[in-house]
Amino acid sequence: MLCGKMEPVQRAGVGKMRVYCKCGEKGRIVSREDLSPEFAKLYCQCSSVKCGHTWVANLTFSHTLSPSAQAVDRLLFDRLRSLSRAQQRDLFDQLDGVS
Ligand SMILES: [Zn+2]
Repeated sequence: MLCGKMEPVQRAGVGKMRVYCKCGEKGRIVSREDLSPEFAKLYCQCSSVKCGHTWVANLTFSHTLSPSAQAVDRLLFDRLRSLSRAQQRDLFDQLDGVS
């Protein structure tokens, strides 16, 4: 292994996720079982034939850093719809004043 050599950023993505065996060797993801959009089981195998360790790693959604634009739109729409006509008009009048 070369010292100080950076892995391309892309390597850190989910599709090229790195897994390591407890023995220190690289592992590879043999298969992936998606149990939900937010939870997957990764079946991993050590790349060292002398080791041969196989294991399962869990990949789970952790938390939102910035909400999906679609979710925000939905939220806004629901919020707007819950307002009275007069409140909606007030809001749009204010928006007109801004632009
Ligand atoms: Zn191993």
